[in-house]
Amino acid sequence: MSAKRIDGKAIAAEFRNEVAVRVQRLKEEKGLVPGLAVVIVGDDPASKVYVRNKALACEAVGMHSEVHALPGDTTEAQLLKVIARFNADPRIHGILVQLPLPKHFDGHAITEAISPDKDVDGFDHSNLGGLITGHPGFRPCTPLGVMKMLEHEGIEVDGKHAVVIGRSKIVGKPMSLMLIHEGATVTTCHRHTSDLAHFTRQADILVSAVGKLNLVTRDMVKPGAAVIDVGINRQPDGKLAGDVDFAGVSQVAGWITPVPGGVGPMTIAMLLWNAVKSAERAAGLGTGAETRIA
Ligand code: NAP
Repeated sequence: MSAKRIDGKAIAAEFRNEVAVRVQRLKEEKGLVPGLAVVIVGDDPASKVYVRNKALACEAVGMHSEVHALPGDTTEAQLLKVIARFNADPRIHGILVQLPLPKHFDGHAITEAISPDKDVDGFDHSNLGGLITGHPGFRPCTPLGVMKMLEHEGIEVDGKHAVVIGRSKIVGKPMSLMLIHEGATVTTCHRHTSDLAHFTRQADILVSAVGKLNLVTRDMVKPGAAVIDVGINRQPDGKLAGDVDFAGVSQVAGWITPVPGGVGPMTIAMLLWNAVKSAERAAGLGTGAETRIA
């Protein structure tokens, strides 16, 4: 068997086109330009690239974006002040603070300082709580992107066994919850899971969100499974790769996402999706795009 390669770039482009249409509608009907503020602290080169890509993605769909760069020795009080300013700014509908933050910050306090109405990353307790209770809110972009990919490919979730490797607040845990909401039976694995392959072999849908090269190999995958690779790793030759041995697993899986070009582009598309949804709410418009998970 040769797995179908899920083209995250192409699917993300469809979502970005839809966002662009909704942005245009807001401009025409409400005279409102959706705005996203991205705050970055310090000089981490990878974070700088991510922030630049997010700003460019906003421009491409007609949104306004503001990048606020702060030096690495910024105090927590200074960062909280910047967030408070964006919270109060009616031109800004989404705020995100690029992670990781320098070690002297209390990440939780920073996340909680963002107004839940503008928390387009979906990381604050009220949005994450809404994910548990099934109430509307912003869903974390990466697992939301995975759900949209599964839906786009017609991969059934209801009644299937999904195995998620990773239990972080931003990917693994919300991923497991979203899959449960859509009717999957979910196993969540992590560093303390004693026999990872025992669980992964049972997965109809396998999501790896770890950050470990070649963690998932061909012998760990059920024939015909959908394998979604969230991990991002740097190979010895400098190229990017995921957690999954793409060549080997492609021979047994039914579907597989590449890295790069899989989940990554979906994450940015979902950030735009959440931001336009926030602007629509601010303008009192029903989106027609609300679903249980999004
Ligand atoms: P994280 O906070 O470091 O979490 C990693 C998770 O993997 C933890 O729950 C950890 O378990 C688990 N883990 C580590 N080693 C393991 C092993 N040998 N077997 C089983 N589980 C193991 O990372 P994250 O923020 O969730 O990100 C995960 C990966 O996704 C990273 O590579 C990151 O760069 C990537 N990522 C990609 C996107 C995208 O858009 N494509 C977005 C976000 C993140 P414990 O909890 O027990 O320590």
